[in-house]
Amino acid sequence: MQFHLNGFRPGDPEIYEPARPSPQTDALPEEVDVLIVGCGPTGLTLAAQLAAFPEIRTRIVEQKLGPLALGQADGVACRSMEMFEAFGFSERVMKEAYWVNEVTFWKPDDGARDRIVRNGRIQDVEDGLSEFPHVILNQARVHDFYLDVMRDSPSRLEPDYARQLVDLQVAPDGERPVTVRLTRIDESHRGEVETVRARYVVGCDGARSKVREALGYVLKGDSANQAWGVMDVLAVTDFPDIRLKATILSGDQGSVLVIPREGGYLVRIYVELDKLGADERVANRSITLDRLIEQARRVMRPYTLEVKECAWWSVYEIGQRICDRYDDAAHERANPRVFIAGDACHTHSPKAGQGMNVSMQDTFNLGWKLVSVIKGRASPALLQTYSTERRAIAQDLIDFDREWAAMFSAKPKAATGDDGVDPVEFQKYFMRRLRFTAGVETRYRPSIVSAEPTHQRLAGGFTIGMRFHSAPAIRLADAKAVHLGHCVKADGRWRIFIFADRANPAETSSKARSLCDHLAASPQSPVLRYTPAGADVDSIVDVRAVFQQGHRDLRIEDMPALLLPRKGRHGLIDYEKMFCPDLKAGNDVFDMRAVSRDGCMVVVRPDQYVAHVLPLDAEEELAAFFAGFLLPQV
Ligand code: FAD
Repeated sequence: MQFHLNGFRPGDPEIYEPARPSPQTDALPEEVDVLIVGCGPTGLTLAAQLAAFPEIRTRIVEQKLGPLALGQADGVACRSMEMFEAFGFSERVMKEAYWVNEVTFWKPDDGARDRIVRNGRIQDVEDGLSEFPHVILNQARVHDFYLDVMRDSPSRLEPDYARQLVDLQVAPDGERPVTVRLTRIDESHRGEVETVRARYVVGCDGARSKVREALGYVLKGDSANQAWGVMDVLAVTDFPDIRLKATILSGDQGSVLVIPREGGYLVRIYVELDKLGADERVANRSITLDRLIEQARRVMRPYTLEVKECAWWSVYEIGQRICDRYDDAAHERANPRVFIAGDACHTHSPKAGQGMNVSMQDTFNLGWKLVSVIKGRASPALLQTYSTERRAIAQDLIDFDREWAAMFSAKPKAATGDDGVDPVEFQKYFMRRLRFTAGVETRYRPSIVSAEPTHQRLAGGFTIGMRFHSAPAIRLADAKAVHLGHCVKADGRWRIFIFADRANPAETSSKARSLCDHLAASPQSPVLRYTPAGADVDSIVDVRAVFQQGHRDLRIEDMPALLLPRKGRHGLIDYEKMFCPDLKAGNDVFDMRAVSRDGCMVVVRPDQYVAHVLPLDAEEELAAFFAGFLLPQV
């Protein structure tokens, strides 16, 4: 990480200087720019993103009296880990979490169908899919990491707990058209009503969202008719795969999913329970923890399970439901003011471990768009892309989950011709969908922020609309082995990665050099056009270059000036813009990501998705792309 740009500061560089002298007040202000409702992973991802911008007045309200301590989701997909890297806490998660490296599959013994036997074992994350593992960690710890980011940010943002949203109204116009009423539910202020006027409100208030209700939207989809239980336990068992993720299909007792947890001892067990009647709620069945344990034992026969302590348990019904829209945009006002995200607009079964992951990606998508519009960098039309992009992704998830949940709840076939699921097909389906469940198959369709794939052949491994698949490289200035994707922080900035042509970038024949000269001087350059006067040259569009030569074959003093920019109040030189392939380790990013040796530009969005691939001389196309949504700065 880089620090000391604006003068030496001792201490932890991840704790930013506060932007305001006094701490956040206990009472909510009457006016804010963004009000986030709900302190789950969805709301916290957005709050952590906005907290980096103290000039945007953000508050996040939560009806609980304090932070979540246990329970709920625990699966963290590779893609979420890549996002955590952008927020600066991927290493903390990796250290504390359980790593899902392999998965085993269990089925009924053909000779004695009341006993289970191991039927397969596979690698969970294919080689090279991501530089991060698939991990398991209590949702509450993920919350803690976000809360730390918010607390240490220049905004010093803290949630306003014990506030329950009562209602919300949107005026047709005005600077702060959304009026929200909240009641305080803590002992010392119980019943007090607060009114807040906001420019934007984001409902991250879960499956029973009041914000969604206020917009008059409903979750549509299948009614839930299958009950499941989940328990986080400390147990003694002779089941041999208790420290591996294991799917268990029993002969006639239903199924179980074993998910080892952080710390080496804790394990989560999902247990299939009863079929429910139409419109029946699982809560009405009065299912107990003992019933869950007993059912798990039946499925896991002949193995024993002795639960010593249960940290958390819950029962729920499975349903796949989604909202038609994720915002309040209407004919008379095309640009939205109220959004919903996460469980508030899509719900599905938890066993594929997608709930928290997809929800966090919702607000990672929305965060930078709100920042850009509120700061006057982008046209408000940008906000329309949130609902379009994210609803399509949730629909894909729901289609997958419907198939997956049905296979999990079906009886395993004893012989060909039987009804039910073939355990071999079950395993194959799981393997086919591993990229999807890792979160790396998300692909945004063409829009103002995701170009048509006209020049995709120049960088086959950086698919437009998909996340920038990071690759190792050597930083030119200090010969450090780094990951290219880790340049993309959750700071709202765009990146242009210039993958250089073969010529030495010191020579005038280098196309990469000509592009840098254009970006540094031409009035058409997005770097100049969209950067406010007095701001650092990379504060809106950050240009990085990856050369084909080894790092010892280039002279840093001969590199284009744009790649050694002067920044901050001292005009210090930023040396971290240039990279070379790691030829010693045999990791040439050009080969790894099928990048043309003639070079190209890869434009990356602030949420790490590839927005465009262009030839090095496509200066006009580059200008036209950014002109589609960014506003020129004076
Ligand atoms: P949530 O995490 O539900 O957060 C919403 C927040 O909004 C809550 O903190 C809530 O208190 C707050 N809120 C709601 N209404 C208001 C209001 N009117 N005013 C103020 N605040 C409000 N997923 C899995 O993958 N595996 C699991 O085992 C699993 N178990 C779960 C068990 C439970 C009991 C629940 C509720 C969810 C579970 N999930 C599980 C789902 C997973 O936790 C969610 O998919 C994920 O948390 C989505 O995050 P979210 O922020 O959108 O919603």
